[in-house]
Amino acid sequence: RRVLVAVDGPSGSGKSSVSREVARRAGLSYLDTGAMYRAVCWAALRDGIDVEDAETLGALVRAVHVDISTDPDVERVVVDGVEVTTAIRGAAVTAGVSAVASHPAVRAELRSRQRTTMDAAPTGCIAEGRDITTVVAPDAHVRVLLTADPAARVDRRARQVEQSGGAAEAGSLAAGDVSTAVLDRDAADSRVTSFVTAADGVLELDSSHLDLEQTVQAVLDLVLA
Ligand code: C5P
Repeated sequence: RRVLVAVDGPSGSGKSSVSREVARRAGLSYLDTGAMYRAVCWAALRDGIDVEDAETLGALVRAVHVDISTDPDVERVVVDGVEVTTAIRGAAVTAGVSAVASHPAVRAELRSRQRTTMDAAPTGCIAEGRDITTVVAPDAHVRVLLTADPAARVDRRARQVEQSGGAAEAGSLAAGDVSTAVLDRDAADSRVTSFVTAADGVLELDSSHLDLEQTVQAVLDLVLA
């Protein structure tokens, strides 16, 4: 049977690492929907488009070619023929992406592409983001809201930044800046999508005191049940 899995959660909840690993072990495709919003933001910056310009962004999102790997072992994002896998994790995109993602025309186009990708996955797909359990795939077989308390999320995000040599998030972000960046983005995102409380039928999993392996096991148990 084809299995569809929807995972939502705030920044630093661990949803990407968890979803990618669950996809590997369950033999599913993996879709990082945040990477799609980041790709559109990257294209907007490339073209010098104001992140508040809804009309121009609407035209851009319909025209832009975003090729995103759904193989959990291959992290690769290509925008109009340019590999942007690392660039979309950078400070400029991270700072602009919430504004880009706030426009209904941007969301409508990306949501439609996300559904198409999920439907095309041969064995099924695990998709993660902010509105997958509620809007993109409310009929998924398994729906999980992955949460973690703010301290744990800021800590995970800071370690991600550190691991990428600081290149991912503004060369020299101090710990306090990472904290502000994470919490500000969540505040902006939660005005647009509802990932703060679990919708009806969505299982909330608090990973504050779980390590990656324990969290993967918890989701995998639901998927394989
Ligand atoms: O998951 P990630 O932090 O990479 O997502 C980047 C941004 O994309 C989020 O801050 C949010 O603004 C947007 N996003 C969204 N809906 C999704 C996934 C991401 O609005 N389903």
